[in-house]
Amino acid sequence: MALNLLVLGPPGAGKGTQAERFARSRGIPKISTGDILREAVQTGTEIGRRAKAIMDRGELVGDDVMIGIVKERLDRDDAGSGFVLDGFPRTVAQAEALEAIMAGRDPLIVVDITVPEEQLVRRLASRMICESCGSNAPAGGTDARCGRCGGRMIQRADDTEDVVLERLKVYHRQSEPLVAYYRSRPTYRSIDGAQTPDRVAADLVAAIAAVGNGGRS
Ligand code: ADP
Repeated sequence: MALNLLVLGPPGAGKGTQAERFARSRGIPKISTGDILREAVQTGTEIGRRAKAIMDRGELVGDDVMIGIVKERLDRDDAGSGFVLDGFPRTVAQAEALEAIMAGRDPLIVVDITVPEEQLVRRLASRMICESCGSNAPAGGTDARCGRCGGRMIQRADDTEDVVLERLKVYHRQSEPLVAYYRSRPTYRSIDGAQTPDRVAADLVAAIAAVGNGGRS
C-alpha cells in the first residue's frame, strides 16, 4: 500500500521540517507547494513571476494554478508509491480538487500539527533559511552557514513580522476550515507541534502507525 500523507498546520508549525524528515525516512517524495513556488520565483518562470507579489504579501496563489501544479506533480511516477504533501491543500476548494486527484489511489492520511499562536509568531520571525537549498536552521546571526550545503542563511522574504501576521490571518480564514473538512475521517490525527522536533517526529510516526497504514518499518 502507498503511504499518502498530508501534513496540515499553520505557518511555522514545522510542517516542512517534519515532512522532509518523514519522506526521507520512507524514501518517498516530499511535495511542498511553498518550495515549488519559491523555485519558480528563483528560476523566473511565468508562474513564479506572478506568484512572487502574492507570496510577498502573505496571500494565497490562486486555486487553479495550485491545483494544476499538484496534479502534475502527483501524476509523476515517483509519487505512485507514496508521498508527503506539505502546504497543499490550503483551501477547501483545493481539498475538493485533491479528492478527485486521489480517486483510485490509497487513502490519504491527514496529520494536523498544532502550535499556539504566540509561538508561531516567534518561530517565524526568527527563522533563517538557506539561500541556496532552502533548508531551515535556528537563527544564529546573519553569517551563519547552512548545515546541509554550506549556503548563506537569510530571512525568508515573507517572514517579516507584518507578513507573518497576514499569513496567520489567511491561515485562520482559508486553511483552518480544512481541519473540519478532514477531522471526521478515520485516517485523521492531530499532534502537538509545541515540542522538540524529535518528539514531534516520533508522534508523527506513532500517529501514522495508529491509523494502521504506515505501521510497516
Ligand atoms: P508557510 O511557512 O506559511 O507554511 P509555505 O512555504 O508553505 O509557507 O508557502 C509560502 C507561500 O506560498 C504562501 O504564503 C502562499 O503565498 C504560497 N502557497 C504555498 N502553497 C500554496 C497553496 N496550496 N495555495 C495557495 N498559495 C500557496
